Amino acid sequence: MEELVAGVRKLGIEVDIKHQKLFRLYYQELLDWNKKINLTAITDYKAVKVKHFLDSLTVISVITGEELTNPHLNIIDIGTGAGFPGIPLKIILPQVRLALLDSTAKKTAFLVHMVEKLQLLDVEVITGRAEEMAHFPAYRQQFDLVVSRAVAPMSTLVELTLPFCRIGGRLVAHKKGKIEQEIEKANEAIDILGGKFVRTEKMNIEELDEERYLVVVEKIRSTPEKYPRRSGMPARRPIGKNN
Ligand code: SAH
Repeated sequence: MEELVAGVRKLGIEVDIKHQKLFRLYYQELLDWNKKINLTAITDYKAVKVKHFLDSLTVISVITGEELTNPHLNIIDIGTGAGFPGIPLKIILPQVRLALLDSTAKKTAFLVHMVEKLQLLDVEVITGRAEEMAHFPAYRQQFDLVVSRAVAPMSTLVELTLPFCRIGGRLVAHKKGKIEQEIEKANEAIDILGGKFVRTEKMNIEELDEERYLVVVEKIRSTPEKYPRRSGMPARRPIGKNN
């Protein structure tokens, strides 16, 4: 657990014995279910702790004090897969309300199992495509924080995520690689969807091997009704002349 504990400490958070127990259980179940369904290519314990758990928890570095003390903070993780970054965040911040959304029913079956096993409260698991679920009033513009990791390039991702974000809320996207170019290409989409690019935060945590970034986008206006477009369109024809 040293890497996880030391890495998370750099985010200003202590991983206690109770958290460690939950992370261990999460790892065991992940590995067990991974034999039947494809959840992760990373199976070594140390690697899972760093590349999945610690990496997920870096989101904490951009959560403000105001958000942390908000007893009703409402987070949705779009394309969460095996629960990243949503579940590690919920383990460390048990007071938040969390929605985990993925279109693959096998993955959401694992998530339902995991939520029960870890006895996490106030977690909703949603099976469905972001393009469709974002039009449901219960989810549209309802979340303070929308998180997403490894789902799509920014120009597509903003259409899948910003519609869930309330005005004044934020999108925090996990990214690696040539991030400036990606954001440049997404600028028009961000504007059309009611967002405003805030900043890119480079993660300076030595435990993480690769360069990682968090891209923060604020929601400043309502997303026009027609977005997201029908399933598949955000990926096939991303918004914007440069795409
Ligand atoms: N966030 C996880 C999983 C990334 S893989 C992680 O970082 O490990 C991408 C996931 O997004 C897959 O589980 C896939 O089923 C889901 N996904 C892709 N497009 C989606 C969409 N339009 N709506 C909902 N889920 C989607």
